[in-house]
Amino acid sequence: MFTGRYRCCRRTVAYRGDYCLSCDCHTVSEQQRTLDIFHVYFLPLLPLGFRKHWHCTKCKNDPHARVQTSNGFKILGVIVFSAFAVLSWLIPMEQPDDVAVVWTMRIGGICVASVFAISVLVHKPSLTQQEKMGEIPRFAPENCLVCGEELDDRSRECVPCGIEYL
Ligand SMILES: [Zn+2]
Ligand SMILES: [Zn+2]
Repeated sequence: MFTGRYRCCRRTVAYRGDYCLSCDCHTVSEQQRTLDIFHVYFLPLLPLGFRKHWHCTKCKNDPHARVQTSNGFKILGVIVFSAFAVLSWLIPMEQPDDVAVVWTMRIGGICVASVFAISVLVHKPSLTQQEKMGEIPRFAPENCLVCGEELDDRSRECVPCGIEYL
């Protein structure tokens, strides 16, 4: 792709205790404010303004980006192979040579669809994001991570840096 966005004037504005879905564990995430500029062929064209983004401090991803669930893929497998099995039962066998091939398709389709169906049924849904979020320990360091200044207990903000500890 030859279009994209530049993120410049990057500045950390806040930290908070968080749950990262990519790391699948508690983490500290960092909020950065950037000036986003849309570019085409690396030519900055359109300033999109200041945007704030949260990043996990461990993996640098968006901590709440949905991790791909494999169950949707399995359900698709059940549908596709069931349809395949049903269609193979409708194939007329005209030549004696067809018998082995068509029966392999019929039995194979049912077997593969069953394997997918069983794996969907035994799949335990993982904790929802809300359940995980409920037990996040608050991130409350004594000192600012950037300048080392002691933090005010009530405001939880480093005034010199302008960083909030949420
Ligand atoms: Zn992470
Ligand atoms: Zn500071």
